[in-house]
Formats: sequence, C-alpha cells, structure tokens
Amino acid sequence: MAANETIFHRIMRREIPADIVYEDEHLFAFRDIAPQAPVHVLFVPKVDIATMNDLQASQAEVVGRLVVAAAAYAKREGLAADGYRVVINCNDHGGQTVFQLHLHLLAGAPLGHFGVP
Ligand code: AMP
Repeated sequence: MAANETIFHRIMRREIPADIVYEDEHLFAFRDIAPQAPVHVLFVPKVDIATMNDLQASQAEVVGRLVVAAAAYAKREGLAADGYRVVINCNDHGGQTVFQLHLHLLAGAPLGHFGVP
C-alpha cells in the first residue's frame, strides 16, 4: 500500500467489497461496516486528505461537497424531516481510525448526546 493509501481507497477501487450507495467524480459514499445508528453512511472525497488538519483553505469545496452529498442522500432516503447528524473525526481525541478524510452521516433514530463519555 502507498503511504497515503487506506482501506477507503481500496473500497473506491472495488478491491474490497462495500455497499456503495453514491458516487460521482468528486466523492463516493458507502455504508459503515460497524453502524452506530440505523443509517450510517461514510462520504469520502476522491482527493487524498488524511485528516481535517491537512485541509487547505483552497480545498473548502471538498468538505462542501461532502455535506451537500450527505444532505441530498438524506433527502432521497426520506431522512431529512426527522433529521440526522454529520460527524468528521480528527486524530486521536476525535476517534479517527481511517486516515482519509470522511464524513459520517448518522440517522434513522433519535441520536444520543455526544461528547466526553
Ligand atoms: P473514523 O473512526 O472516523 O476514522 O471512521 C472510520 C469508520 O470506517 C468506522 O466507523 C469504521 O466502522 C468504518 N470502516 C472501517 N473499515 C470499513 C469497511 N471495510 N467498510 C465500511 N466501513 C468501514
């Protein structure tokens, strides 16, 4: 694997199976393998960005596209009116485990409070 290569790159190339629910030229989305809510989908940009710390001001569109794609998915799936949560984890304290920037979409039931357990 290349230095910046993660399991998400392998999912994007269809080298390992995943339930991919959306893809366009900029990003792709698939169901989380260990869902933390009835709906748990990850939105991943195709450009390599390891963490939010590595995001440049010139790359603001990358995150904008993730948010817009997640909102569109929620609308398509009938989740928008009840609502949902989006999360980007960063590094150790954020609980990041895969070092390719991604946005979690959590939905399908009332979500608990979040913060320090
Ligand atoms: P994070 O902890 O924010 O880095 O999120 C990484 C997420 O990737 C976790 O919620 C994992 O359950 C998920 N994940 C890891 N491997 C896979 C996989 N092969 N397919 C789908 N989701 C995965």
